[in-house]
Amino acid sequence: MALSYAVVNQKGGVGKTTTAVNLAACAALDGHKVLLVDADPQGNATSGCGVDRSVLDQCIYDLLTSTAIDPAQLFPEVVTPTSVENLSVVPATINLAGASIALVTAIARETKLQHALETAYERYDIIIVDTAPSLGLLTMNSLTAVQQIIIPIQCEYYALEGLTQLLEVIQLVQSQLNPSLRLNGVALTMYDARTNLAAEVEREVRENFPGRVYQTVIPRNVQLAEAPSYGLPAVLYDKHCAGSRAYWRLYEEVFPHE
Ligand code: ATP
Ligand code: MG
Repeated sequence: MALSYAVVNQKGGVGKTTTAVNLAACAALDGHKVLLVDADPQGNATSGCGVDRSVLDQCIYDLLTSTAIDPAQLFPEVVTPTSVENLSVVPATINLAGASIALVTAIARETKLQHALETAYERYDIIIVDTAPSLGLLTMNSLTAVQQIIIPIQCEYYALEGLTQLLEVIQLVQSQLNPSLRLNGVALTMYDARTNLAAEVEREVRENFPGRVYQTVIPRNVQLAEAPSYGLPAVLYDKHCAGSRAYWRLYEEVFPHE
């Protein structure tokens, strides 16, 4: 049974996709069979691992809106190989933008992704879901489909804004839809060691989530931002840059060793 994680924060641009893509790549390079699920209509996780969205016939939208009795049957058609060995992606195209509307009237609308991934839980070692900057139905589906949550927090002003609401939604999902869901940890991202602000934010976040914040802090690092334009996770684009080294350390913290 796969270990499954969603990278969640409804705040935009905090490093969700960078974290999802690089942790997935680390796990794949470490020899695990990894599935990255792109649950964001922006499709950044899809393009960030080298998949050309414009040539795709089907995407996660088709899994979410399938009316088949067994939506998992569609999974093999939608899953796509990436530029990284052992790493496959359930891609997102712009079609996904319509999913929230299409899902509104669907029966069991929060469990669509979970059902669609039924066979994937058996076939992969690790599943990582990259979520959109929203707490809408797509993110509810993501939270229902996984066991654990990773929350990236950007070391900038208003870092903690919206977290109360996020934790409330997580509790709601725990009580109504997915009792086994738990917080794996909080990842501090885009840390600029030259600023007092970053250190202040770190202190504040560690105070708010005692024992739940990873030791590893992801630095602000230009290679992390450049890598997606080459269709590669940073850990492959530039193995030795500070950002890649940090993601390897984070990987060691997130995934238990056998
Ligand atoms: P969205 O909410 O829009 O999905 P996100 O939370 O997924 O955004 P990312 O796309 O991972 O955030 O990051 C936002 C931007 O910052 C991207 O351009 C990304 O390349 C860049 N970035 C992410 N992490 C870092 C970092 N540690 N150092 C420098 N740039 C970074
Ligand atoms: Mg993103």
